[in-house]
Amino acid sequence: MIVPTHIADRLLAECLGRPRAYQELGRLCDTVGGRVAGTEAAARGEEWGAGLMRAWGVPSVAFEEFPIRAWSRISLDARVTGPNGWALTAVSHGLTPEAADAEGPVVDIGHGDPEDFTAHAASLPGAMALCDEGAGAGRRKLHRMEKLALAQEYGASGMVMISSASGMLPRTGVCHRLGADIPAIGIAREDGLRIQRLLAAGGTVRLAVSMRNRLWDGSARNVIGEVPGSELPHEVVIAGAHLDSWDVAQGATDNGLGCAIVLEMARALAALGERPRRTLRFALWGAEETGIHGSRTHVERRADELDCIAGVMNFDMTGDPYGYWTPGRTEPGAMLRGLAEQLAPLGMQPDFSSGAGLHSDHQYFMLEGVPVVCLAARLEGEGGRYYHAAGDTFDKVSQAALCRAAAVGAHTLWALADAPERPFARLDTAQVRAMLEEAKLIDALRAEGYSGPALG
Ligand SMILES: [Zn+2]
Repeated sequence: MIVPTHIADRLLAECLGRPRAYQELGRLCDTVGGRVAGTEAAARGEEWGAGLMRAWGVPSVAFEEFPIRAWSRISLDARVTGPNGWALTAVSHGLTPEAADAEGPVVDIGHGDPEDFTAHAASLPGAMALCDEGAGAGRRKLHRMEKLALAQEYGASGMVMISSASGMLPRTGVCHRLGADIPAIGIAREDGLRIQRLLAAGGTVRLAVSMRNRLWDGSARNVIGEVPGSELPHEVVIAGAHLDSWDVAQGATDNGLGCAIVLEMARALAALGERPRRTLRFALWGAEETGIHGSRTHVERRADELDCIAGVMNFDMTGDPYGYWTPGRTEPGAMLRGLAEQLAPLGMQPDFSSGAGLHSDHQYFMLEGVPVVCLAARLEGEGGRYYHAAGDTFDKVSQAALCRAAAVGAHTLWALADAPERPFARLDTAQVRAMLEEAKLIDALRAEGYSGPALG
């Protein structure tokens, strides 16, 4: 047994027998709803998280405030113009301009890969660049921000992204870190397919976009709770999830769900009669959606502490757990193998993956070589379909999966925090570089302006 029976019994009783977080997640979704970083709703969400940590016995709870470029939407009108035009079902992307009124012919650039832009270079100036969310076969999928940067570079007057989910579900998401120069919108798949059919038939389609948004210098907060370690309090194990969300829905699966898992684990571990050797830190990160600002700030402000972090678990749209993901570490080690065996009744299997990935709150820890230990999990049902769209509501959350993820996560945290020797060493710069090369992420990091040690 990796986690001793008397500890495991308590964790299972709390997470599966008398869980509390699912109900509290419902309260967040219904009374706060969408929580874009820097808005009053985000602040109410932060109070929700801090209040629960305190009520559930986490000994120390504090806010970690940091400045951000904040954004909120005011209005959008997007339509195909002309005698057979129609109003599009569309949403503005995050960090689009305060005011933009653009009109132009639509140019279909497929996936919006770099070579798609090159192939249409002559027709893009002044045009609306239409692309989907995907990438060509075998290509790394560019982030929305990378496609927008290319659209700006090629002189497009706007970027229009087709949702990959059907059901009139346009998707939002950040398109620029500070503020884009041109409007960018997500449109319903059905609208996008109609435009593509008209273009393929040889027609010209013109599109007009008029948007108003609010942009300001604001701030966001991480909520940080700690349970001090019994023997090695300066060594830390972190469990975090981003609390901010997009405003078009309730931020239920992305990512109130992850926050609920973190809070349930905090409650279960704080309720134990004993403490593990190392300190447990529970983090509800702010401003992930608008550029991973909260966890990056934490990493920057605690640079001298990074050697003392024994593990970081990130929960972002975490569904039913079945394995472990340890980026950059092909050998999961005896502890995770043992945990997978001990937790098999909860659905865990000896399923270990190690390919690096970006764009959530593990990113800046991973880039510093800090051990990242995440659950591999399946978001069952329709949760993934409503990503960044109006359907991301509380009814999509599976209580059973949430409880299992909290139980598995709490066991994993205990094991990381109480192991006599640290299960994972920090990766050095060369090892981080090799991990990023292996996953073909060097270009993606350069594109987002990252210039840390691993990129030399
Ligand atoms: Zn997320």
